[in-house]
Amino acid sequence: MHYQKYYPVDVVNGPGTRCTLFVSGCEHQCKGCYNQSTWRTDSGHLFTQAMEDQVIKDLNDSRIKRRGLSLSGGDPLHPVNVAAIQRLVERVRRECPDKDIWLWTGYTLAKLNDAQQAVIRHVDVVIDGKFEQEHYDPSLLWRGSANQVIHYLNEPESAWSKS
Ligand code: SF4
Repeated sequence: MHYQKYYPVDVVNGPGTRCTLFVSGCEHQCKGCYNQSTWRTDSGHLFTQAMEDQVIKDLNDSRIKRRGLSLSGGDPLHPVNVAAIQRLVERVRRECPDKDIWLWTGYTLAKLNDAQQAVIRHVDVVIDGKFEQEHYDPSLLWRGSANQVIHYLNEPESAWSKS
């Protein structure tokens, strides 16, 4: 897997203070995509074992308390990314048990294949669907267009307002 950017401290992508990883690789080709440079699966930097270890270390860093990990892109559920993302979310669950995981994908939840669904089983909140320029609404929280849906998989929406 390759990634575009990693922010060890981020307060923009999801609730609270977070670690955020923007992976490379996206096949959705949404009109009006904010970041076409993420489309190529080999763009950006290689996501190495050292980077994976760094994410875990940052999540557990007690000097700056992080609420969780945000996975975006590109698309974390692009077929070339699924195995690495699966490993990462399993490690977060095992080694950072008090952290949440949010994931943005252009695929819709109802149409995920088995491998993609296996990732989602470890995720707390999924924002799904392609970006649709005709439904763009800058007032929306955590999503760019009104067709995209925030799925709170483990806790009700009200639990996330305490950030
Ligand atoms: S899913 Fe996101 S990164 Fe992929 S084309 Fe659409 S807007 Fe761009």
